[in-house]
Amino acid sequence: MDRESYQLVKEEIKRSADIVDLVGNFVQLRKAGRNYVGLCPFHSEKEPSFTVNRERQMFHCFGCKKGGDIFAFWMAYHHCSFPEAVKDLAERYHVPLPEKPLSAEEKRKRALREAILAVNEKAARYFHGNLMDSPGAEGARNYLHNRGIPVEVIRQFKLGYAFDQWEGLVGYLERGKVDRKIAESAGLIILGKKGRYYDRFRGRVIFPIFDLSGRVVGFGGRVLDEGHPKYLNTPETQVFQKGSVLYGLNASYPEIRKTRKALIVEGYMDFLALWIAGIRNIGATLGTALTPSHVRRLKGYASEIVLVFDSDEAGREAALRGLPVFLNEGVQGKAVLLPPGHDPDTFVKAEGPERFLELVEGAPSLLDFYMNQRLSDNRATVEEKVSVLKELLPCLYEVKDPTLRAGYVRRVSEAVGIKESVVWEELDRFRKKDGGQIQGRLRNKASEESAAKRYNRDLHILNLLIHHPETRAQLAECEWQPLLTDATIGTVIEAFLDKYKREGQFEPQDLVEELEDERARNEYREALLLPSFYSASSARVAVEEIKNKIREIKITSSIRDARRRGDMEELNALLKLRAKLHQGLMQ
Ligand SMILES: [Zn+2]
Repeated sequence: MDRESYQLVKEEIKRSADIVDLVGNFVQLRKAGRNYVGLCPFHSEKEPSFTVNRERQMFHCFGCKKGGDIFAFWMAYHHCSFPEAVKDLAERYHVPLPEKPLSAEEKRKRALREAILAVNEKAARYFHGNLMDSPGAEGARNYLHNRGIPVEVIRQFKLGYAFDQWEGLVGYLERGKVDRKIAESAGLIILGKKGRYYDRFRGRVIFPIFDLSGRVVGFGGRVLDEGHPKYLNTPETQVFQKGSVLYGLNASYPEIRKTRKALIVEGYMDFLALWIAGIRNIGATLGTALTPSHVRRLKGYASEIVLVFDSDEAGREAALRGLPVFLNEGVQGKAVLLPPGHDPDTFVKAEGPERFLELVEGAPSLLDFYMNQRLSDNRATVEEKVSVLKELLPCLYEVKDPTLRAGYVRRVSEAVGIKESVVWEELDRFRKKDGGQIQGRLRNKASEESAAKRYNRDLHILNLLIHHPETRAQLAECEWQPLLTDATIGTVIEAFLDKYKREGQFEPQDLVEELEDERARNEYREALLLPSFYSASSARVAVEEIKNKIREIKITSSIRDARRRGDMEELNALLKLRAKLHQGLMQ
């Protein structure tokens, strides 16, 4: 397709489409004045800065600065090229498309994707046909019947059966003249050592896995008996990434959107059991923990995600791993642990769906869930509390929003009974020691830097100065310089206190234009936009802690001096003083 015809198609799509309606299919939008706003699908946020404007048919995110027209949205949201976006949208709005928009490589990839989807479709039909009609699938039918899965649900989710044979599907595809290479790329068949293909799924109930438009992207298979592995999935293919698909979402997302809440279970059977019990705002991970990609996918529909666990060990681990994911995506994460011996399936059967929903209603936040699990009785020793704190440090470290982090630090400090200032210090130590490794895992360089920067004490001092004028006099008297880790914020604090000493109390925004360094101005402007990290009383405590910290730094340097001079008397006195100061830090 040449440039000109592209332009024509583009224009026609633009005339047929409305950006608010289109984006509204993927992002929960609400009207705000002349705009529509929602949580940005392209970066982590908890307050909507993603804005869509109908008049101009454009979107813009004030957070990550992504923006543009419907094509820009489609490309960014679906990670596709411009020609693919044009093709998808042309299809969606029934705009006829002239031929040949793709490069040879793009065409090859697209053709392979389409071919895989087509063979998946065929395989799904084959498996489903086996289950419905074949005498050889009697066992599978009994199994599903005994698990309480009615035939309508089998039909709706196109459940199937793979015979316990090596060449069941291989033979079927051969008769259908399907290219075996494609079926291999789809992960359905495997090339054996002797150059013969055989079926991946054998003797299993088959759960086709659909994307949101209802195409089969992969399969899960479950054994009927106690065989191993209990569940088998399609391997990663061009169309199937285990870490970003949720089973059942194609059927359940309208309900998730309606309730703004998603319940996440661990497997196909759990999903179906809840579905049958009438609980429909659900999705199942495919034997993995919930990933950031899952959460991003869901956050367009849900503001709250409840993880349902059936064993405390796995639940505890998943909660710990899930914590930073949720915190950073701005989605409320909660967790429910079912009573011992139960999974969602057995639980709704034994206790009923109402009882299940009660558990979900009362679900604690992931952080509370985790801490409750680890510190379940009040007899946790100091060592246990310290070890819980250590486990939580990487999570706290990964929380990018400074206000959120401050809130969580406080929450953790309360729960483990260790002073907030000590938690901050541990966090700082963690950053210096292990932060480097964690940073490598963070996706985006800019957010790493701000994450590392933001919990420095510098920003907290600045936050106190901005929001708590009553602390200014005391902080002006402090020798806070040794506490600084960031030179830019240091200049800001210095300028702030200079102005204060010169003029007395002033409105913080008046300082902006007086800052000469542009970086300092930017930092300060951002600091002004942050809410207070402290209540009035915790601000008082924070100032005391800052003073203590300075005292400690001074004592430590005097200790070094005394040691060098060999003044034992002085040294002992100083060491005692420091120990006292330290004791004061533990509650
Ligand atoms: Zn954004």
